[in-house]
Amino acid sequence: MAEPAFELLGISDRARRGRLNVAHGIINTPAFMPVGTAATVKAMLPESVRATGAEIILANTYHLMLRPGSDRVADFGGLHQFMNWPGPILTDSGGFQVMSLSDLRKLHEDGVEFRSHIDGSKHLLTPERSVEIQHQLDSDITMAFDECAPYPSPIDDVVKSMRLTTRWARRSKQAFVERPGYRLFGIVQGGVHDDLRRESAAQLIEIGFDGYAIGGLAVGEEQDVMFGVLDTMHDLLPPDRPRYLMGVGRPQDIIGAVLRGVDMFDCVLPTRGGRTGLVFTRWGEINMRNARHAGEKSPIDPACSCPACRSYSRGYLHHLLKAKEILAAMLLTWHNLHYYQELMGNLRAAIEANEISGRAVALLKDLEGSGDPPS
Ligand SMILES: [Zn+2]
Repeated sequence: MAEPAFELLGISDRARRGRLNVAHGIINTPAFMPVGTAATVKAMLPESVRATGAEIILANTYHLMLRPGSDRVADFGGLHQFMNWPGPILTDSGGFQVMSLSDLRKLHEDGVEFRSHIDGSKHLLTPERSVEIQHQLDSDITMAFDECAPYPSPIDDVVKSMRLTTRWARRSKQAFVERPGYRLFGIVQGGVHDDLRRESAAQLIEIGFDGYAIGGLAVGEEQDVMFGVLDTMHDLLPPDRPRYLMGVGRPQDIIGAVLRGVDMFDCVLPTRGGRTGLVFTRWGEINMRNARHAGEKSPIDPACSCPACRSYSRGYLHHLLKAKEILAAMLLTWHNLHYYQELMGNLRAAIEANEISGRAVALLKDLEGSGDPPS
């Protein structure tokens, strides 16, 4: 018998400790997926990404279909070989980025016509084409093609876009070629409206997916609004399938979502922050460009075992940023990803020990700091 796609290993309150099996490996959940937009996690070697503890990365269908093209990636044996990342890969459907990045979009029942933001060339992305591209990329987890109304939107628009997403999800499922270890996730939409989320979830569950993503959050709503939707989703989604909260987020958001039963996350914050000087620590966020770090001889976090903290002072990292040196992005990205993976490891251990509530309170309290270890 094939390995079960998802095993629930333990529960602490509503938080879930699981293991997701896919073609290229195992993902321990709750998991954070570093974003590798254009077949690279910016400023990091793949083996360095792995060394931070990451078991899966995310790549972007929209970017890769435009450059270098999915035929080219397929010709190189798929994304794992092309980018030298042998582990699991999840690809998004391209839906979100077509709407946020491309020019001259035309949305209709069949799909989205758009012009590339790179060279103005014309493309059509449909559910069938999105699934086919993700197949060519050899993605372990394919996302169904979805459409997300901007936030806030009139409720009629949210209804329309949610129902279109459901019809596209059905077409995505039909287009998906089943192979052992390859998974297809549906995306629940419905904005911040409980009844729409309910309708969306029920219809996607009826179609049947290997996992369920919660889309349309982290688009500018308040944290308590997002948590409210997650509270609703908790009772709607089947307990034996992984739950993925797309595009989230800050450490505080991740902790709150894990408490509400979410298993998977992705976000550009740790990698983008690594390039701009936004540094994440157990004691809160630091702007490493701030002049207060210029003469600082201690590391970002003396207790962190990443290369940036083992061998470099805050003063040196501040200097690298000011001088626009490439090493700044390399070291700070490594630290941020290391921190995010350590956070996920702490959350997994807390669920295993059935102590998630108490430990989450302690983690959140520490995060209220100024980024400096308590003196
Ligand atoms: Zn560090």
